[in-house]
Amino acid sequence: MKIHTQAVHSGDRKQAPLQIPVTTPVYTAASYVTDGLEEQDRIFGAEERGYAYQRYMNPTNVALEEQMTAFENGFGALATASGMSALQIALTSVLLNRPKSVICARDIYGATIKLLNDVMAPFALRVRYVDTNDMAALDAAIAEETPGAVLIESISNPVLRVADIDAIAARCRRVNAALLVDNTFATPLLVRPLDHGAHMSIHSLTKFLSGHGDVLGGLVVSDEEHHETVRRMSRIYGPVLGPFESYLCMRGAKTFPLRMERHCANAQAFAAWLRRHPAVAKVHYCDDPAHPDAAIIRRLLSPGLYGAMVSFELAGAGKAEIFALVRRLKLAVNASSLGDVHTMLLYPWIASHREVPQPMKSEMGVTESMLRVSVGIEDIDDIIADFAQALG
Ligand SMILES: *Cc1c(COP(=O)(O)O)cnc(C)c1O
Repeated sequence: MKIHTQAVHSGDRKQAPLQIPVTTPVYTAASYVTDGLEEQDRIFGAEERGYAYQRYMNPTNVALEEQMTAFENGFGALATASGMSALQIALTSVLLNRPKSVICARDIYGATIKLLNDVMAPFALRVRYVDTNDMAALDAAIAEETPGAVLIESISNPVLRVADIDAIAARCRRVNAALLVDNTFATPLLVRPLDHGAHMSIHSLTKFLSGHGDVLGGLVVSDEEHHETVRRMSRIYGPVLGPFESYLCMRGAKTFPLRMERHCANAQAFAAWLRRHPAVAKVHYCDDPAHPDAAIIRRLLSPGLYGAMVSFELAGAGKAEIFALVRRLKLAVNASSLGDVHTMLLYPWIASHREVPQPMKSEMGVTESMLRVSVGIEDIDDIIADFAQALG
């Protein structure tokens, strides 16, 4: 063999290892060798499950997808390159054979609004935003729109409203609309939307599930009815997660339940401390007996597992006071994400909700004095000490 031939053949394509590796390797191969055209024929004909091409299926991703399917008690999963691509492929899949109309929760992630309005609406998708915690409003919208899909978040950003997934799912199923739940804030440790009647649970893997702020990824976990459609869409247009990212997500996710328990315990202690602080006018956290969705929370969430997100309002504060407070914080990281191991904060007024029209912000309860904290897994004493010195 000459060097140019050696360069492309030597080393690779060895027999599978004699023993089973304890963790899944990063499979970077773009395509797979088959044992003759007969086998390839069976794989392409879907008579036999096998790897052919990375856009179709990748062993590193399959391992992550199995882990995530187990977390969410689904039928199957697809790992995607971002949370946003997960939302797009989920919507495309459920709307394929349904009316091109979506009812979306009013309290929803900012980029989700842009996806619907700027990417999907121009392709003749009707989009209507509704307060999905108001069942009468939702019923009226469903009656008027006969939607193909309803899109909600299990816990919303930044005021942490909690969706009555069972009640919304029952309404969707009556009109054959698919219920898609963005479960990023709640995570499957708090709630598994498919257990409550949702058709799909969608995630930004970038957040709690991977958990270390070092990878961008998304996830669609589907029921039996929709899983194959999601896979087929992905085989065609391929927004799949790369194998390196897949490996990072899976590695992070091994400690997800442990981390999330600690996130929740810290957040609850932090919220309790904030409520006693004289400079704090209001605290939004899901353990509050006066929470507007307290009855739903009692049914849906387990005691002590209320999530890592805490939002609070600084008494009488405007932009200047919030800027000053954030400048004084030493431990909490000021960055536009959430769900990492370290405590992070975001000022919705200038960031996530910057472009939301004022009347909508008022309806949602997003104020200029509100700061959102993603409580990390540090020692709670250090988190509280940081906010204590910053609040004065
Ligand atoms: C971050 C986030 C997304 C988008 O995920 P990316 O991984 O950034 O694409 C969607 N929904 C929610 C609730 C998020 O927090």
